Amino acid sequence: MTVSAFVGLGANLADPQDQVLRALDELGRLPDTALTSRSSLWHSAPIGYADQPAFVNAVARLETGLSADGLLDELQALESRHGRERSFKDAPRTLDLDLLLYGEEQRKTERLTLPHPRMHERAFVLKPLLEIAPDITIPGRGPAVACLAKHEDQPCERFIFRG
Ligand code: ADP
Ligand code: MG
Repeated sequence: MTVSAFVGLGANLADPQDQVLRALDELGRLPDTALTSRSSLWHSAPIGYADQPAFVNAVARLETGLSADGLLDELQALESRHGRERSFKDAPRTLDLDLLLYGEEQRKTERLTLPHPRMHERAFVLKPLLEIAPDITIPGRGPAVACLAKHEDQPCERFIFRG
């Protein structure tokens, strides 16, 4: 049995576009997992710490036989492989991979909250997510399109169609 999962990708260092494109390919090669859809690449302004480069963001849809914890393990390993390639002490991360949705699952454990706890308030997640899943509902939060309506002011523009 497989589950549909959505992963949010973000990068703002060391050729972020290349980081995201390579990570999309790598997601499709995870064990027991197929990449079934990928969004365009989007540019977003940093939220929080403004004094850093703009981000490249995307969302991928996976069909996976991995458990949610197993998938998070793989995402973290992939993140650290990217970080290690170009990293120096205290460097910002070159690649962030968030497990946004794992089927309809809702849980809150120390290492994994599902749905991702901030996805419903981030245009850089919602815009690429809606591009590949226009009718999706975020369990506990409602339709993603309604979530985005509250955050349309966040700068986030598509710049490469379908990556
Ligand atoms: P952020 O993505 O908010 O900038 P990090 O990528 O540094 O933060 O993640 C910090 C921690 O969040 C990780 O150690 C991970 O265990 C935890 N976490 C909880 N829920 C999730 C989720 N749905 N996807 C990814 N990480 C999660
Ligand atoms: Mg993260």
